[in-house]
Amino acid sequence: MPPGAIVADWSKHHPHNSYSPLFWYEDRPGVCKTCSAPFVFTKEAQRHCYEVLKFPIYAEAVRCAPCRAKVRETKRAQREHMAEMAARKPHPHEAFFRKRS
Ligand SMILES: [Zn+2]
Repeated sequence: MPPGAIVADWSKHHPHNSYSPLFWYEDRPGVCKTCSAPFVFTKEAQRHCYEVLKFPIYAEAVRCAPCRAKVRETKRAQREHMAEMAARKPHPHEAFFRKRS
């Protein structure tokens, strides 16, 4: 195991049947696919993703933290919008505009 690495707990991983399971986590550098900024997928973040959030062990971080936050916020706003649309009263003439099947 490389110095400074964190031991992986297989029992907490999402089931994968892999011949090459993750033995440990160490910081993995990457380049953000959205803004091209270099970032580090830290060993602590990896442990959280794979053991707490149960991401598949093949999942890689492809965006930097600020871009991930932006994506999360966009998805949250979309969910909120869809909930608002589902909860709104139908338009009084909606039956007129609905396609006849
Ligand atoms: Zn980015």
